[in-house]
Amino acid sequence: MAWNVLAVWTVAIPLNGVSMDYLPIFLDIRSARVLVVGGGEVAARKVALLQNAQAQVIVVSPDLVPALLEMKAAGAITHIARSFAVEDVAGARIVIAATNHAATNKLIYQTATAARVPVNVVDHPALCTFIMPSVIDRSPVLIAVSSGGTSPVLARLLRARLESLVASTYGALAAFMAKRRPEVRQRITSPRARRRFWERVLQGPTAELLLAGQGVAAAQVFDRELAQPEGDGAGLVSLVGAGPGDPDLLTLRALRLMQEADVVVHDRLVAPPILALCRREAQRIDVGKNAGHHAVPQEQINQLLVDLAATGQRVVRLKGGDPFVFGRGGEEIDALVEAGIPFQVVPGITAALGCAAYGHLPLTHRDYAQSCVFVTGHCRKDTLELNWESLARPHQTLVFYMGVAALPAISRELMAHGLPATTPAALIERGTTPEQRVLTGTLADLPQIVAQEAICPPTLIVIGEVVRLHERWKCRTDRAETADLRAAG
Ligand code: SAH
Repeated sequence: MAWNVLAVWTVAIPLNGVSMDYLPIFLDIRSARVLVVGGGEVAARKVALLQNAQAQVIVVSPDLVPALLEMKAAGAITHIARSFAVEDVAGARIVIAATNHAATNKLIYQTATAARVPVNVVDHPALCTFIMPSVIDRSPVLIAVSSGGTSPVLARLLRARLESLVASTYGALAAFMAKRRPEVRQRITSPRARRRFWERVLQGPTAELLLAGQGVAAAQVFDRELAQPEGDGAGLVSLVGAGPGDPDLLTLRALRLMQEADVVVHDRLVAPPILALCRREAQRIDVGKNAGHHAVPQEQINQLLVDLAATGQRVVRLKGGDPFVFGRGGEEIDALVEAGIPFQVVPGITAALGCAAYGHLPLTHRDYAQSCVFVTGHCRKDTLELNWESLARPHQTLVFYMGVAALPAISRELMAHGLPATTPAALIERGTTPEQRVLTGTLADLPQIVAQEAICPPTLIVIGEVVRLHERWKCRTDRAETADLRAAG
C-alpha cells in the first residue's frame, strides 16, 4: 500500500489539554533519502514503514537482521556495512537512530540537529526532534495516533480501537471520491450544494456498498444520485446477522450499521442486549415471529423493507444468527432486487456455531464426525419431509434448528433409518446467553428428557458422537470445580 496522498485525521492527545507539544504533520518522503542507523529488529520495522511511504532508505550498520538482509537482497535498501560516521547525515531528509549504543545515538542526534535534519532516536524522546505516531493505514486515508511520547501503550490501545471503528476498506472509498470529483464539480456548480451532495454520498448507500466491496453496485447508485442531486437520495437495506445472542459475537460491520441506521426491522430472536446497541434515535420495528405464528407475514416484511428504503432511509434488517441460515433472507432479497433497491448482506454467527462453541460441543472431530449437517425441524403441514437415509449416516453430526416440537418424530425416524438408539444427543437452550442450558441424553431418551423439562426457545438439537466430548469435558470441569469449592471451603 502506497502512502502518497494526504491524511485526513490526526488524533493527538495534548498533555495539558491546552497547548500541543508537537505539531502533527504528514511528510512527503517519496524518493527522498532517509538514513536509518542500526541493523536490528527495531530498525527493520522502521525501514518497512519508510518503504511504505516510498522513501529511498540507506541503512548504516555493521550487520543486519534477516528481515533487513532480505530487503537488501531485493534491492529495496542501500546498505553501508560499517558503524555510523558523521558524514552519513549529509543529504538525508530525516534520520532515524535505532542502535543500542547510547554514545552513538547521542552523536547521531547532535550531528543531525547541527545540520538541521529532523532526527528520531527510537525510544529516547529527549533525543528526538520529531516523533513517530501509531498509524492506521487506510491509504489514501491515514490516521496517526500519538501520546506525545508519554505512553506508547495508550497510543497503541487507542489505535486498536480506531482500527476496529474505521472499516478496512476505507481507502477504496477515498479513491472512489478522488476519481469522481471532477464529474461532480462539473455537474453541481454551487460549492454548498456540492458539499451537501458529498455528505449524502458518504453517509449513503454508495459509501456503504464501497465499504462492502461492491464497487459496481456502488457506481450505479452514485450515477443515479448524481443525475438527481436534489432528490430524496437512495436508500439501502442491510440484511444483518445479529448472531445467536451474546452481543460480543456481533461483527464489526454489524455494529457499525446498527449504529448508523435510520430504521431497524428486527425479529423476535434478536436479543434485547443486542437491540440496545442500535442507534438510539433509530426507529425500531418488531416483525417478530413465534413458531407457527407469524406476527407479520413474510410478504408484508418484504414490502416494508422496500417502502422504507424507497424514502432514502438506511434500513437495517436485523436477524438472529445468520441471515442466510434458515433466515428467509433470500426471499427478502428477491423483493429488493425486484424493486431495484440496493442491498448488502452481513453474515452473522449462526446458532449452530455459537451453541457449539459456548456449549463445548465440537461439530466435527477427527475421531467422531467428518461432516455436519444443518437441518430444519420445522414441519410443513405437520409432516417432516427429510431425507432420513442420508441423515442417519454414521460419523456425521446433525444440528436441528426449530426442532423441539418435532423431536419425537426426529428421534423415531432416525432410529427407524438405522441410527443407534444410544447415539448421544444434546439440547442447547438459549445458547450463548447467560441463561444457556445444555441437556444431554441419547437419541432414544432425549424426547422424554425434553418432555420433563420446561424448555424455553430458542433451542437447538445436536445429535452425534461429538456429544460425548461435551460429557467428557463436563465431567472434568465439574470435578475441578468441586475440588476448587472444597479447597475454598
Ligand atoms: N438464522 C438463524 C436461525 C433462525 S431459525 C441462525 O442462523 O441461527 C430459529 C432457530 O434457530 C431456533 O428455533 C433455534 O433452533 C435456533 N436458534 C437460534 N438462536 C439460538 C440460540 N441462541 N440458542 C439455541 N438455538 C438457537
